[in-house]
Amino acid sequence: MEFLPIFLDLKQRHCFVVGGGDVALRKVRLLLRAGARVELVSLTLCDGLQAMAEQGDIIYCPGHFSPSMLEGKVLVVAATDDALVNRQVHGAATEKNLPVNVVDCPELCSFIFPSIIDRSPVVVAISTGGTSPTLARLIRTKLEALIPAAYGKLATLAEKFRQPVKQRFARVHQRRLFWEDVLQGPVAEQVFAQQLPQAEQTLQQLLDAPELPSKGEVYLIGAGPGDPDLLTFRALRLMQQADVVLYDRLVSPRVLDLVRRDADLIYVGKARADHAMPQEDINQTLADLAKQGKRVCRLKGGDPFIFGRGGEEIETLAEQGVAFQVVPGITAASGCASYAGIPLTHRDYAQSVAFVTGHLKDGSFNINWDGLIHPQQTLVIYMGLVGLPSLCEQLLARGMKADMPAALVQQGTTPEQKVYIGTVESLPELVKKHKVKAPTLVIVGDVVQLHDKLAWFKGTSINS
Ligand code: SAH
Repeated sequence: MEFLPIFLDLKQRHCFVVGGGDVALRKVRLLLRAGARVELVSLTLCDGLQAMAEQGDIIYCPGHFSPSMLEGKVLVVAATDDALVNRQVHGAATEKNLPVNVVDCPELCSFIFPSIIDRSPVVVAISTGGTSPTLARLIRTKLEALIPAAYGKLATLAEKFRQPVKQRFARVHQRRLFWEDVLQGPVAEQVFAQQLPQAEQTLQQLLDAPELPSKGEVYLIGAGPGDPDLLTFRALRLMQQADVVLYDRLVSPRVLDLVRRDADLIYVGKARADHAMPQEDINQTLADLAKQGKRVCRLKGGDPFIFGRGGEEIETLAEQGVAFQVVPGITAASGCASYAGIPLTHRDYAQSVAFVTGHLKDGSFNINWDGLIHPQQTLVIYMGLVGLPSLCEQLLARGMKADMPAALVQQGTTPEQKVYIGTVESLPELVKKHKVKAPTLVIVGDVVQLHDKLAWFKGTSINS
């Protein structure tokens, strides 16, 4: 190990910075965030430092560095572009046994600034030993995605309960189990959902309960339209802590690859008219599994609340007192439109957008056509493939112009994406000719003509 990572308490301690440019400014900001008192010497100041000096955030000594300035300091940073001055600062600090950092000069550093993820009081520091700050930043970006922003709040809550938990559980092993449940279960989830008072209440209830808590909960998660990059951070985190996963046909294999390796996978359908598990059974299975203490992930294509029957599933849970949370996903309309280069609204073409289902019930549509068809509105039709001929017929009969641009987006956002462009009149023919298959989204409106100009995603595009 090149450097020992330690965390310094700099509150009210005097730190010294040499240099008045932007690099010095960045270091000063860090020191101030840690509560340090900063004294700085330089001939000139950049705007940011100037403002800090004027507001009294730092003590500014105009002029040249002299070793006597280090008297009473606990830490020194040299951030000048003058190699001679940097060396002089390093020499003076070393003589006084003070930790010193010379920016961009690892051989003159007795300490280095790590790349930081700040979820105070949780702080993660990353160092590449001064070899590549860019690599440290890249690693940080990856970790940022893994560490929810609210971990700091979770730590603060844990601190508040540290003593009571110690009193309640005499044995270290029990305490560890308790905290593992709290930090990965409903309490943590409430904190992440910004429900701090509820989280504190839940934690108190767990503490008062005679048994160790059950971690049973259902996560109703929107898995997006297919591309795993479109998952939210929260979706991924919950997928990776689930004990069992119930998924349906629309969830892409690449998304499914990301669930916890040892989770049980249960396929629950549903292709048209081929329901692997009836909806009522799905609802009850979710409740039963959670009651057994399992963390149940219910993965649904797109967004669970948009033509996903997510509402029905959690209604059952709510009725039976099972804890649950809902994670929104990118709905097919957003995903397909973006990946097909078709903005759903546009100042010149559409001021509103309507999502409708083209699902046929007993051979007819459940659609309230009023207000759906007017020139400045984009129409997005989910589940519209089977009923497409009568759908288009209805649109034309209700006054839509025959050459209204329309698109079919098949398997949107996946490498297999195909976009077919035509008109509301020609769509049914397109489907027949190209054997378009599910899942396909229908987009109708003038915005469709922008596809030619704005398509960016490498899929197939067929214009006819
Ligand atoms: N809850 C989902 C929609 C479920 S309804 C969501 O928010 O996206 C199923 C319909 O969604 C399909 O019939 C199809 O019209 C559309 N759909 C879902 N994923 C799609 C995809 N990747 N490409 C095209 N259409 C898709």
